Amino acid sequence: MRLKVLGCSGGIGGPEARTTAFLADDDMLIDCGTGVGDLALEELAAIDHIFVTHSHMDHIAAIPLIVDAVGEMRGAPITVYAIPEVLRILRAHVFNWLIWPDFTAIPDRRRPFLRMQPIKVGEEIRLGDRSITPLPALHSVPAVAYCLDGGTGQLVYSGDTTYSPELVTAINACRDLRHLIIESAFPDEQHGLALASRHLSPTMVAAFLDEIAGNPQVHISHIKPGQGERVMAQIAAAGARLHASALRQGQVIEF
Ligand SMILES: [Zn+2]
Ligand SMILES: [Zn+2]
Repeated sequence: MRLKVLGCSGGIGGPEARTTAFLADDDMLIDCGTGVGDLALEELAAIDHIFVTHSHMDHIAAIPLIVDAVGEMRGAPITVYAIPEVLRILRAHVFNWLIWPDFTAIPDRRRPFLRMQPIKVGEEIRLGDRSITPLPALHSVPAVAYCLDGGTGQLVYSGDTTYSPELVTAINACRDLRHLIIESAFPDEQHGLALASRHLSPTMVAAFLDEIAGNPQVHISHIKPGQGERVMAQIAAAGARLHASALRQGQVIEF
């Protein structure tokens, strides 16, 4: 599987700071933040599947726009996969005819531009020879992490989460983990804010990593613009067993 980082920043501000979105192969998005806006129209039209971790704006901002941009060009709906709580929020607060039209009824309910597919934590979704499994995450709103498996190795993306023993257990149950993308939304100076908003700080990332078995490559995402060096220095100073590097927009991970 091939994962391209379209955005991995905790906020916007210039061409190097797009919010979270990953392009898996050519047809799948994992989260749908502002990074998706850099894809060409033909690349957008090739997206069949969008897997969403949670409903926060920085992870869903481009869903309404991509459906509107390519709906008529495609012969089949785009499918958004998320846990039922997240789909309910998208229906009630985004595709409600007020913020955006309900594209699950356009042009009609039998052949819509958008489908919503509920998923369950721990239940694998198979797409050809690839699989994607939602794992339990712990955030201020209902949220999941994802394990992606291309048949020759696995990658786990935490989404937005704070420390969660259930997530540690789920990650350690992955049989062939090669890469772990984990967030650090705040520097240690804002540890209290990280706890309150159910994110991770560098000290918490290091403690999290010390419970991860095996030797996956660790990539840090969701750092606020301008705080990358400080956050990475704090993670290094915390001295976790696993080395971590900052995930970069444009980076491609093959596994
Ligand atoms: Zn969030
Ligand atoms: Zn976020």
